[in-house]
Amino acid sequence: MAEHRVIAPHEDPVCGMTVNIAEARAKGLAKTYEGREHVFCGKGCFLEFGDDPETFLAVGFTPTM
Ligand SMILES: [Zn+2]
Repeated sequence: MAEHRVIAPHEDPVCGMTVNIAEARAKGLAKTYEGREHVFCGKGCFLEFGDDPETFLAVGFTPTM
């Protein structure tokens, strides 16, 4: 299993934005990957993450808007 950086429960791993977890779940913008739930600010980040989660979870990746 690859090593992942530390991401806060309410942090969008793609852009680094703080996300309302309940709202993200309600909008279908939450995704569980390797037993850990991630939330996203919008469909764009959600889809980008789905394409290649390891890129955004990699140690050394810096989220940018
Ligand atoms: Zn985002």
